[in-house]
Amino acid sequence: MYYFDHSATTPLIPEVSELINNINREIYGNPSSVYSLGRKSRSIIENARNQVANSISANTEQIIFTSGGTESNNHILWSILKNNRNHVISNKIEHPAILKVLHFLNKYGLKHDLVGVLSDGIVSVEEIEKAILPETSLISLMLANNEIGTLQPVKEVVEIAKKNSVLVHTDAVQCLGKIDVNVLDLGVDFLSLSAHKFYGPKGIGVLYVKDPKQLSSLIIGGGQERGLRAGTESISAIAGMGLAAEYCVKSLNRKRELLLKLENQLKSGINKFYKEAIYNGNQSKKLPGLINISFPKNQSAIMMAKLDRDGIAISNGPACGSGDVKPSPVLSEIGLDNQTNLASLRFSFGSTNTEKEVDYLLNKLELNLVK
Ligand code: PLP
Repeated sequence: MYYFDHSATTPLIPEVSELINNINREIYGNPSSVYSLGRKSRSIIENARNQVANSISANTEQIIFTSGGTESNNHILWSILKNNRNHVISNKIEHPAILKVLHFLNKYGLKHDLVGVLSDGIVSVEEIEKAILPETSLISLMLANNEIGTLQPVKEVVEIAKKNSVLVHTDAVQCLGKIDVNVLDLGVDFLSLSAHKFYGPKGIGVLYVKDPKQLSSLIIGGGQERGLRAGTESISAIAGMGLAAEYCVKSLNRKRELLLKLENQLKSGINKFYKEAIYNGNQSKKLPGLINISFPKNQSAIMMAKLDRDGIAISNGPACGSGDVKPSPVLSEIGLDNQTNLASLRFSFGSTNTEKEVDYLLNKLELNLVK
């Protein structure tokens, strides 16, 4: 399998897989139990909390384990419902785990405004500033987009938010291991992560909360995660995520270099045989190794099926659950017409990809694309 869809999900690092298996086999004590097997589980969880906190320059008490990016995003928006100020600003190319939740929460009284992006896929800070109302309590702006990889000016938004006493959440699910994710530098109040995007297991994620007093619980029950997220912890998944986070930060420079090298190889290869290729979104302010390209005379559904026959896993961007290929709202938002939109592919490289694999990909693209 030639896997070029790391923005959808990543394979487990072998050491992470081994750790998870060992823990599942041996460490089954409930972390809330007082006897030694329980205490062993607790210490594994707290070690992972430390690893995750270090990976984003946070303190351990600011890390809440959740079931993934979707839950972390839901948690923040539901939490804001309880605020007196009931207005949220977000942007039109957020993940559905923000957009659909905002839409849903309308009926409970949470109002929102969505700011558009410019044609390069980046929001204008001035537009966000203009959208701030006296009742705005939160701005939720993703750190990087999952379809085109564009980086949003979160740090600048935090500056204007602070002047207006508005909190800032960022969905950084696509970012750990590809760019530096530093909560102190960003200055955000809340940040979401998901382990399966950084070579950890699925079904586990993180919500960073600068001041845990500002958060109320979403999942209610036992007192886990200091009462902020109930439910018996998945020890192995948490431990796997901790190790994966540590690995990502250690290997960041090496990986960033590799991703950029593969990206340049792909682009220069494509430019040789498909001059009409359109590179979607700002190509310098984006995640390394995530490239969204339109091939105007083609259809993504057909391209994906043909490449799949050659053992190549690639996506058209939105992994929408239903398997249908629909125009991407993100690509529409940056101005692509439906035909160009439906002629787009997202390539997302990862740490195990090689130049040889990209050569193979280029060869198959050249053979399969209609020119
Ligand atoms: N946010 C972004 C930007 C994503 O790319 C994804 C997953 O694709 C999510 C949130 C949802 O994360 P999870 O799959 O952990 O629920």
